[in-house]
Amino acid sequence: MPKRNDLEHKALQFVMNTGYTGVLQSDLWRNLGASSREGSRISIKLENRGLIRREKELCDGRWTYRLFPKRMPASIDSIADCPCLMCIDNPRCDPSSTPSPQHCERLTEWLLLKSQDGTVTIGDS
Ligand code: SF4
Repeated sequence: MPKRNDLEHKALQFVMNTGYTGVLQSDLWRNLGASSREGSRISIKLENRGLIRREKELCDGRWTYRLFPKRMPASIDSIADCPCLMCIDNPRCDPSSTPSPQHCERLTEWLLLKSQDGTVTIGDS
């Protein structure tokens, strides 16, 4: 039987990879070779740590949970229109000099737009 920390890590990776679809708790534990009791304990722990979200779901007449990642892995599409990619100042842009990302209006505007459409979360590291 895998160690609990290994299982937590594998469970989190698995849930992260399911994206917006999520995964039924029972399917996850079946894939990881864990017992449902141990699986439930781990999913509650991951939820309490703010890493996943559990939503109750009726499946084949039984209540279970679908697990979703709280954060999605970044995709290339999410940064395709970032102003830095086509910026002529990019080669000399540096946090310790001018221009810098900390004081760039174009980057700030882009980040604010992205935060409004839910693509990025500002101030959440
Ligand atoms: S932070 Fe601003 S100045 Fe720096 S590369 Fe990005 S767009 Fe250009």
